[in-house]
Amino acid sequence: MVTWRLLQAFGLPFTLLAVSAVLDFGYHDAVLLEHFLKRMHVMHPTITHLYSIGRSTGDVELWVLVIGKNPWNHTIGIPEVKYVANIHGNEAVGREVVLHFIEYLLEGYGQNEELTQLIDSMRLHLLPSMNPDGFSKAYSPDCNGVNGRNNQNGKDLNRNFPDPFAPWDGFPEAETKAVMRWIKSEWFVLSVSLHGGALVASYPYDNRSPGGMQDFNYVWGQCMEVTLEVSCCKYPEGDKLKDFWDENRPALQAFLHKAHLGVKGLVLDRDGGAVVGANVLVSDRNNLLPFNTTEHGEYFRLLLPGQYNFTIMAPGFKPLTQTILLSEPRNFSATRQDFILEYNGKEKGEARCASWCERNG
Ligand SMILES: [Zn+2]
Repeated sequence: MVTWRLLQAFGLPFTLLAVSAVLDFGYHDAVLLEHFLKRMHVMHPTITHLYSIGRSTGDVELWVLVIGKNPWNHTIGIPEVKYVANIHGNEAVGREVVLHFIEYLLEGYGQNEELTQLIDSMRLHLLPSMNPDGFSKAYSPDCNGVNGRNNQNGKDLNRNFPDPFAPWDGFPEAETKAVMRWIKSEWFVLSVSLHGGALVASYPYDNRSPGGMQDFNYVWGQCMEVTLEVSCCKYPEGDKLKDFWDENRPALQAFLHKAHLGVKGLVLDRDGGAVVGANVLVSDRNNLLPFNTTEHGEYFRLLLPGQYNFTIMAPGFKPLTQTILLSEPRNFSATRQDFILEYNGKEKGEARCASWCERNG
């Protein structure tokens, strides 16, 4: 970020900034990270949105940059996707890789066909650091240490979520609370959590010890989160970052396509009204909690190509069972399938309320 700081110091105009190289290969502390995200937003105002999901225990903003054709709001049919890094503060490669991925996507928009289509077909939320306080305590090089792993209160944030298989102490840290709120509010479909210290990809369930973020996403957020450990060394020297970026960039890009696996659509009543909180069940794909439609009556189910039996259930409506044949994603979209439910002999208002009230108390 030397370029950025020098240009600021000399008061050079923004037009010059816009054409200069942006992100160097080195580590960026909380101040530089915030500058970078704000600058990316200023340079790409129509396809980015910058917001904070809360503050860390040490009072640092947890910044999220959204990239998408409509970055401000959810659009029906457009999957919400997130990339989260640095939940363990000393696992620093993911943090920098996410920053470079942001720059890469934004520079590619309108230039590269695949990147443009990806950005136009999803709303991608990127949280480069979930544990900025831990990162500020960690140091490089440190391949195997634990200094900075936990948050400022000494808590491992990836063991701090409710766990469906183990008792929970019920005391989420500020960072955990912020992410839980975020997951409940955005209805993410697909997620990556970037770690370091090994080369591993793990998927739900990972309850080897209580409270992983990945299982929380899957059970309570209806979101498939994959945990990726992307470097054997947790916090390598900065001059190794270019290699890690080159090694991981294709996979991070390819993974975005998986947001378009399977099927998506709306569950509606016969008048076209959204049925909120309807169960969208797939036979042989049992979940601990059923997948429900959102406040828009919308659902997404990530599924490989094949034939599936769907059952849609909501209080006040007759259950609907339908067989659906799913192909590979086409044109950067999952298969679209809406379901129309018939009332179960009750009045319309009663049926709608039943479905909403059961879910929301
Ligand atoms: Zn980790």
